[in-house]
Amino acid sequence: MRVVLMGPPGAGKGTQAFLIAGMLGVPHISTGDIFRANVTQGSPLGIEAKRYMDAGEYVPDGVTNAMVRDRLSRDDCHAGFLLDGYPRTVEQVGELSAMLSSSAERLDHVLELTVDLDEVVSRLVMRAAEQGRSDDTEDVIRRRLEVYFEQTAPLTALYEAQGLLVRVDGLGTIADVTARIVAALGIEQ
Ligand code: ADP
Repeated sequence: MRVVLMGPPGAGKGTQAFLIAGMLGVPHISTGDIFRANVTQGSPLGIEAKRYMDAGEYVPDGVTNAMVRDRLSRDDCHAGFLLDGYPRTVEQVGELSAMLSSSAERLDHVLELTVDLDEVVSRLVMRAAEQGRSDDTEDVIRRRLEVYFEQTAPLTALYEAQGLLVRVDGLGTIADVTARIVAALGIEQ
């Protein structure tokens, strides 16, 4: 199964993506995690990405697209994948569909985790206190949410028009949300 998971920062994408990818037996590919791993390693990609991440801006499409193209070309993605945090721009949507159609593949579902703004802000503030992520400061959180609602939220309409979009309420316990996703995607357990 090929699934894209969308939703604002703080919606719980990472947590759910990890669980759902495990159930589906497909790799969980988080662009944010790949960028952070590169930052930790101090690789050239990490050095470039950090400037944008710490400002709450998106890493440029050229850099992000090349990284995802490389990751999706690996053998473990043949049977499917769960993409978390990609695509986030119109250009990335086009690039992903080009990558898939070049190997005669297509997405099965685009899942949007919906959470209201007050809830995501309070979750991000809590995560900042617990994990100390360098892009979880108040100003950067505000900017990341703005960028999400300007550039990424409208993309769901493109997938809705293709009949791929499934919306799931992201409020509640982790187990509640997982159960909703399992039902929405028709995952057999
Ligand atoms: P969140 O969704 O909570 O903002 P992520 O871990 O998914 O966190 O992403 C962290 C940062 O990594 C983003 O703010 C952005 O700078 C960068 N990033 C992740 N995915 C993409 C993408 N598809 N395009 C551009 N930048 C990205």
